[in-house]
Amino acid sequence: MNGPEIRVEFAPELHVFVPRARRDGAVRATTDGVSSLGHVIESLGVPLTEVGALVVDGREVPVSHVPASGEAVTVRTVVRPQRVPGAPLRFLLDVHLGTLARRLRLLGVDTAYESTDIGDPALAARSAAEQRVMLSRDRGLLRRRELWAGAFVYSTRPEEQLRDVLDRFRPDLLPWTRCTACNGVLRKATKDEVADQLKHGTHATYDVFAQCTACGRAYWKGAHHEQLEAIVERALADSRGHR
Ligand SMILES: [Zn+2]
Repeated sequence: MNGPEIRVEFAPELHVFVPRARRDGAVRATTDGVSSLGHVIESLGVPLTEVGALVVDGREVPVSHVPASGEAVTVRTVVRPQRVPGAPLRFLLDVHLGTLARRLRLLGVDTAYESTDIGDPALAARSAAEQRVMLSRDRGLLRRRELWAGAFVYSTRPEEQLRDVLDRFRPDLLPWTRCTACNGVLRKATKDEVADQLKHGTHATYDVFAQCTACGRAYWKGAHHEQLEAIVERALADSRGHR
């Protein structure tokens, strides 16, 4: 039995999810006459976390809208910067995004990360419990209703992932304030406090130290790899460009 047929046209950013779309991004979809537009869009492969306004015949409709036969739907992408309601902006990353997690922490962005695969239900529950935006390349995970909020990570390259997340959410950047290993907050430390973690040369050369308040790991100024300095500089420059 065939239900109403509708035409759904996706924004260019969303074409990656809809391989069967024609070159103009449009898909013909048959619905069952009772499912919501949100359901139809998800069944075409597009996570609702990536969907902005839905426009039907020139007027905006909610995802709960039930499409009628012959409707033409335009699916826009999320508006940037994306505002997440409620809690201060913080993230949760799945097991595949370890490099991105460390880079966000390097920039002082509150970033929880699961280095083992705890499964989608546990990730979604943590996102909800801690009010964290779930970042993932897993569309199935992003479909979970429990998520506080979620976002698809489009690139597989950490540089592009970082730029994309910063551009989308525009978090406040406070470089060198978080532990890249555990996301703990760093505090100033004396050389004596971290002496047991210092190699001989470090002890002699550096005077400015910090220590993670959660795991105790020591950090010292000047010890950062040039690549990390470059990541911070680029992120700060992009951030200034956004303002
Ligand atoms: Zn730590």
